[in-house]
Amino acid sequence: MTVASRSNLYSDLDVQAELDAAMAPHTWFGIGGSADLLIRPNTLEALTTLTRRCRRDAVALRVLGSGANLLVDDEGVDGVVVKLDAPFFQNVEFNADGLLERMRVYGGASMEKLVVESARRGLRGVEQMAGIPASLGGAIRMNAGGKFGAIGDVVDAVALIGTDGELRVYPREELAFAYRASNLPAGIVVWSSLRVEPSDPIACRASLKEIFAYKKSTQPMSANSAGCMFRNPTVAGVRESAGKLIDLAGLKGTRIGSAMVSNEHANFIAVDKRGEQSSSGRIGRTDDVRALVELIQEKVAAKFGVDLQTEVVFWRRGEQEGA
Ligand SMILES: Cc1cc2nc3c(=O)[nH]c(=O)nc-3n(C[C@H](O)[C@H](O)[C@H](O)COP(=O)(O)OP(=O)(O)OC[C@H]3O[C@@H](n4cnc5c(N)ncnc54)[C@H](O)[C@@H]3O)c2cc1C
Repeated sequence: MTVASRSNLYSDLDVQAELDAAMAPHTWFGIGGSADLLIRPNTLEALTTLTRRCRRDAVALRVLGSGANLLVDDEGVDGVVVKLDAPFFQNVEFNADGLLERMRVYGGASMEKLVVESARRGLRGVEQMAGIPASLGGAIRMNAGGKFGAIGDVVDAVALIGTDGELRVYPREELAFAYRASNLPAGIVVWSSLRVEPSDPIACRASLKEIFAYKKSTQPMSANSAGCMFRNPTVAGVRESAGKLIDLAGLKGTRIGSAMVSNEHANFIAVDKRGEQSSSGRIGRTDDVRALVELIQEKVAAKFGVDLQTEVVFWRRGEQEGA
């Protein structure tokens, strides 16, 4: 199916569509090629109909959050990329179902804003997400978190449009969250209800500040990166820090073209800024990041016998999501 003929997927729907849409501005890496078709639905109905049509026509459908854990190939990505940034999908309902202890957060809502607003209202529960760039949907899909907890700790329910285009609500009892993973099936997170606890706004803000300060002191937050490139592996039954292994393999500062292992945090790969001449003379390239990922995997396997798996999601033409 050609890109032009795909208009039958969306032309009668309440969406904004962009052909050959540059993906770099939508990701934290700020590199990579274009999406054949970027669609921003305005309504739930448009999103479910689009999902059903993509399945009917066997068109790949990917969902983009805030692009903080994504690496898009230099050749771009095929099919349809959906972005949930219309007002409906960025909504947050505090006091959901009339309960102070519950909020319903829609898939495209910014976690950064949610964390700050929750503290302002004196609600505890999501402060562990401070300093983690994410949309709600991306955070749930990755079970994002760290030293202070993960989003899955406070999830009460998730509403997800499956690949069949049906919306289903998964209650807490059916959900299992693990390290950067969950048992949610493939699909698009439309909303999640989160459990929070009314507390003192001053204390909430203080713990938020503490978590932000910790993140800033341990991670290069302003680099063009996607956070940790590799999952922390389990070695002899114990979860080991991938960053520590990369550091001990002497790889901090290692560069391939425009990609470099961060000197601050060895599990971060940073790229020279999009569109700027880098010190290496190369402009940010996904190929460079991929080559560096492979080099790190080889060196760490050779030194420690550990196979590092990527945490960052790779998007490439004709491939299912993955490394
Ligand atoms: C500076 C920096 C620091 C970071 N620190 C941390 C950290 O401390 N802890 C941590 O866990 N992560 C961290 N990350 C990684 C990133 O913040 C998380 O993985 C985050 O959850 C990604 O969310 P996103 O909305 O940007 O998802 P994206 O990067 O846009 O997408 C990631 C995956 O989620 C899927 N997805 C997005 N939206 C939806 C949806 N609505 N429904 C279903 N699937 C969806 C995508 O299809 C893709 O598979 C960091 C990243 C950066 C750049």
